[in-house]
Amino acid sequence: MNPVADQPLPALAGASRPQPRELRTVRQTTCCVVGAGPAGAMLALLLARQRVPVLLLEAHGDFDRDFRGDSLHPAIMQVLDELGLADQLLELPHRKLRRATLPASPPVTIDLSRLPGRFPYITLMPQAQFLDFLTAQAARYPSFELVMRANVRELIEQDTIVRGVRYHAPDGWHEVRAALTVGTDGRFSQIRRLSGLKPVITAATIDVLWLRLPRLSGDPEGATGGIGRGHMLLLVDRGDTWQLGMVIPKGSWPQLRGAGLDALRRTIAELIPWLTGRTGQLADWSQVSLLSVTADRLPRWHRPGLLLLGDAAHVMSPVAGNGINYAIADAVAAANLLARPLAAGTLTEWDLAAVQRRRQVAGPHHPEGHGRAARPPARPRAPLRNRAAQAGPVAAAHPAGPRPGAQAGGLRSPPRTRTPRTLRPWPESS
Ligand SMILES: Cc1cc2nc3c(=O)[nH]c(=O)nc-3n(C[C@H](O)[C@H](O)[C@H](O)COP(=O)(O)OP(=O)(O)OC[C@H]3O[C@@H](n4cnc5c(N)ncnc54)[C@H](O)[C@@H]3O)c2cc1C
Repeated sequence: MNPVADQPLPALAGASRPQPRELRTVRQTTCCVVGAGPAGAMLALLLARQRVPVLLLEAHGDFDRDFRGDSLHPAIMQVLDELGLADQLLELPHRKLRRATLPASPPVTIDLSRLPGRFPYITLMPQAQFLDFLTAQAARYPSFELVMRANVRELIEQDTIVRGVRYHAPDGWHEVRAALTVGTDGRFSQIRRLSGLKPVITAATIDVLWLRLPRLSGDPEGATGGIGRGHMLLLVDRGDTWQLGMVIPKGSWPQLRGAGLDALRRTIAELIPWLTGRTGQLADWSQVSLLSVTADRLPRWHRPGLLLLGDAAHVMSPVAGNGINYAIADAVAAANLLARPLAAGTLTEWDLAAVQRRRQVAGPHHPEGHGRAARPPARPRAPLRNRAAQAGPVAAAHPAGPRPGAQAGGLRSPPRTRTPRTLRPWPESS
């Protein structure tokens, strides 16, 4: 039985109050990225391409988890294309979603094939495969390192600046010191909790039941769904199976379970009549997982030495199927804005604030934008120093070696007029 999907990783005793540890290793890097989801893996790849030393820490031993989305939007494919990786990715098994029928009355069909560009479809690929691909690409660069089974539990702080993390691995505790720590550890972000940055809850009215049923030849292709009886049922074509996401009112799971599996089978059949013959495949509740949906955002994504991205900064509802898109766009903006100051050792909190600002100016409905959020911290009047970041993914996508005076995307930056505290990798004295 798997009643609740994707729970936070179990906390270790003493996690909130760091205690002296017997450390197996103490290492230093420029950027320590915590969490190898889409945001972390993409950020690490983009930084490694620009020769920034980056250490990516992932708590799990592999990427094979069910409770993740698998839709790669055209904007992501565009980024990969600019990196020269789209065609390689598309050699892996995937499906192309060109049409989706929304369960409205009457049904609304979205025809993605009319979109401009090389990728007028949503690429459906298990997220595990996508992450394997990104990290394998990053591993081609000597400045990249991935540590699996590295469960980050503590922030190292000095004079209110985050200086790195401590993680627990099967062989014990390890310490990583870094000029910048990036929390991309998802919707139950440990880094966010440890940082003290407080989220604003924006929506928590639904939960989702997650299950699969066989897909047969002659079924519709792409995505479809049905609505009624207080539920919405979304179906995503995964080749031989349909991934079903049933949206239910928050907190109604015990009642729904109490009504029995037969009632669930009947509801599915009523919402999607052509599934009737297949609902018998639901033999017990272990085939049904509950995803407790939250949606929130951090008004402020950063502290000195620390930046949060992806779901760690703004948990996305899975219903919109857009979380990966946003996570990747965050990573691109961060790499565009931070690669150069990281390489030069001149990173300041302004650079971190610029990442959040960059992700917010585009507005909620732009693939580059993310919702509304509090005004980022004011910056003293200074020239806009990173045109590459304004250019979006294109600038990030091209590998730019650390040419003196060159931007991450190869654009020149105006001189900095005033520099706040520089977040150096680690004080010489310590
Ligand atoms: C059921 C479900 C369905 C979804 N469907 C879609 C969809 O179809 N399309 C879509 O675009 N989005 C979908 N989403 C949302 C999408 O999966 C997320 O928005 C996206 O994965 C966020 O990426 P991320 O890199 O920020 O975080 P995550 O993908 O959550 O990655 C975080 C990583 O950090 C690791 N981690 C966590 N804690 C630690 C720690 N302490 N130390 C080290 N590592 C740690 C985790 O193991 C994980 O690998 C869905 C989400 C859910 C739950």
